[in-house]
Amino acid sequence: MSSSEKKIALVTGASRGIGRATALALAGDGLKVLVHYGRSAVEAEAVVEAIRANGGEAEALGADLASEDGAKTLAEKVRTIVGSRLDVLVLNAGVSKAARIEDYTTADLETLYATNVRGPFFLVQQLLPLLGEGSSIVVVTSVVARGVVGKPALENPSILAYASTKGALETLVKNWAAILGPRGVRVNAVAPGIIDTDMSNFTKTEAGRETALSMQALKRIGKPDDVADVVTFLASEKARWITGASIPADGGSKL
Ligand code: NAD
Repeated sequence: MSSSEKKIALVTGASRGIGRATALALAGDGLKVLVHYGRSAVEAEAVVEAIRANGGEAEALGADLASEDGAKTLAEKVRTIVGSRLDVLVLNAGVSKAARIEDYTTADLETLYATNVRGPFFLVQQLLPLLGEGSSIVVVTSVVARGVVGKPALENPSILAYASTKGALETLVKNWAAILGPRGVRVNAVAPGIIDTDMSNFTKTEAGRETALSMQALKRIGKPDDVADVVTFLASEKARWITGASIPADGGSKL
C-alpha cells in the first residue's frame, strides 16, 4: 500500500500504557499512526521508532490536553500532517486520582475534568472537518463508569471523581454516535477493567492484585494489549455495524 493510501490514526496519550499498545497495534494493522504525548517526548519518539523499525509509518506530536487551548493546538498539528482526512481517532489520554471524599480539592476536579472530558470534547469539535464517511472514534473509558470498585468507605481513598469523568465520556459517546452517524462516522467506547500500567494502583500491591482478581471472572491481571486489540477491532471495518456501544475489556469484572 502506498503512503498516500494508508489510513491515518491519531492516538492520544500514546507514549506509554494502553495508548502505546494501541499505537503499535494500529500500526500493525497497516495504519499510519500519529503518536500524541503530553510531556513524554522521548517515550513518544521511542514508540515512533518501534513502529518504523517494523516497516510502519508514525509521527510524534505533543500537546497538553488539560490546557485551555490544548485540543485546538493538537488539532492544528494533526491538520498540518494529514491534510483533509483522519480515519481513526482514539481518545485515550487520561489521568486518575484516588483520595478520601474529604481530601479532594477543586484543583483535583479541574485537572480530572479538563484532561478526561474537556480535552476529548474539544478535540472532537476541532477535528470534525477531518472526520467523514468511514471514520471511527474510539474512546477509552473504564469499568468504573458503571460500577464501584475497591472497598467503598469514608475512610478509604476512592476514585469516585475519576469514575464520574468516565461516566461523562460514556454519555458523550452515545451523543457523538447519534450526531455523527448520519455523516458515516462511528463512535464507540472501550471500557477497560484493571490493566497493568503506570496509572493502576491495583496492580502494584498484593492486596490490590487480590482485589482485582476477586472481581474478575478471568484470573489474571489485564495487559495493555488486551485493550488495544479491542480498540483496533472497533476502529476497523470489521466493526462497521457497531456505533454508540461500550465494549468492556475487563476479564469479566463485576459480573
Ligand atoms: P498511563 O498513565 O500510562 O497513560 C495515560 C496517558 O495519558 C499518558 O500517555 C499521559 O501522558 C497521557 N496524558 C495524561 N494527561 C495528559 C495531558 N494533560 N495531556 C496530554 N496527555 C496526557 O495510563 P493507562 O492505564 O495507559 O491509561 C490510558 C487510558 O486508559 C486512560 O484514559 C485511563 O483512564 C484508561 N483506563 C486505565 C485503566 C487501568 O487500569 N490502567 C483502567 C480503565 C481505564
